[in-house]
Amino acid sequence: MPDVSQQWFDRARAVTPGGVNSPVRAFAAVGGTPRFMASGRGAWLTDVDGASYVDLVCSWGPMLLGHAHPEVLAAVQDAIARGTSYGTPTTTEVELAEEIGARTPVEKVRLVSSGTEATMSAIRLARGFTGRDLVVKFAGCYHGHVDSLLASAGSGLATFGVSTTPGVPESSAAQTIVLPYNDRAAVEAAFAEHGERIACLITEASPGNMGVVPPEPGFNAFLAETCRRHGALFISDEVMTGFRVSRSGQWGTDGAVEGWVPDLMTFGKVMGGGFPAAAFGGRAEVMAMLSPEGPVYQAGTLSGNPVATAAGLATLRLADESVYTRVDQVAAAISEAASEALTQAGVPHRLQSNGNMFSVFFGASVAGSPVRDYATAATQDTGAFKAFFHAMLDAGVYLPPSAFEAWFVSSAHDDRAVSHVLAALPVAATAAAAALEGAS
Ligand SMILES: *Cc1c(COP(=O)(O)O)cnc(C)c1O
Repeated sequence: MPDVSQQWFDRARAVTPGGVNSPVRAFAAVGGTPRFMASGRGAWLTDVDGASYVDLVCSWGPMLLGHAHPEVLAAVQDAIARGTSYGTPTTTEVELAEEIGARTPVEKVRLVSSGTEATMSAIRLARGFTGRDLVVKFAGCYHGHVDSLLASAGSGLATFGVSTTPGVPESSAAQTIVLPYNDRAAVEAAFAEHGERIACLITEASPGNMGVVPPEPGFNAFLAETCRRHGALFISDEVMTGFRVSRSGQWGTDGAVEGWVPDLMTFGKVMGGGFPAAAFGGRAEVMAMLSPEGPVYQAGTLSGNPVATAAGLATLRLADESVYTRVDQVAAAISEAASEALTQAGVPHRLQSNGNMFSVFFGASVAGSPVRDYATAATQDTGAFKAFFHAMLDAGVYLPPSAFEAWFVSSAHDDRAVSHVLAALPVAATAAAAALEGAS
């Protein structure tokens, strides 16, 4: 029993809403006691009760090299020994921006502290640059907790959004048009009706926040071209995919091949090396609108923090082709084995992947054909996932505690860690089968 975690969770709930500082950590979707982690090394996490887990969350993506990578730690220790924040320019910020520019098509970068800040600032910049107000986003794409992006689809196509949470003014949600993902006709209809008022379209470069729902071939190119035709900016949110699905993120596998470039891109997660660092960047002409060069205001006391940028720079410099090859291999081994175990146990499911990001949708409603949008993803059987999740947890595998999240692996997932996951799968698949049976 996770007794010590439970004690801490009780204490946490007394001082923090829900006992956590980011909702999904509370295990609300799967039930049970959230594990308080005490340490991480390589592919493994150890909790405060002393139980160890192979980590398939990897801090929701950032830990591409695994936990406590010695060279990243050395870079952090070197930075910390020289002080932790000066509020002045530092050389590491420049090197990190150069590294991002070398891997992606962005011409200028601004560093911030979270993915939310990156998307929020990119949208402000797009509005300032175009002099327009409306934003287009897709249902199921998450871009952080930015007011205007916490909107869901209103009734009918090409209508304005409604806020998904109290506290977001309807006037803010009403600046957002929410469309079904992978739906070209919906995009065309929205731009035909409102094109002259649309400042930007923002999309996850390859969605991973509704489970993994990749763009259909050519969809991102279509979005880029549609924006261009209407004088709107195309913002590709690579906070999750950036420097993870390839050295150049999702753009490395579509835009770089097809020959198009987003106007703005947002990054986070991997580029912070486990610290709060994120960025947005893009065309020099657009970025020149940003203060102090231009009139669009944006700032941050800890932006480009020397410790965070040292961790991010060390991570990116270590993330070479051999890292991506290993992460791809591990993802393929685990995802294929998970699908195989579920098939053996008679659990209808659908495995979806985009490079080394993958997730499994549970239940008959999602098993037959590709899950291409949120409406379909939302029909999955979360009860089966819950049973699967807990069986894996009991066997020492830490999965994302929600059916709507991507599974992440690292280059530190060695053969021992992979074998440990594979050994846990058959029992978990049987638990999922029993949950489906019980429900029907
Ligand atoms: C995680 C994420 C964000 C938000 O980043 P935070 O650092 O959590 O604010 C934005 N966009 C995408 C695609 C993400 O996955």
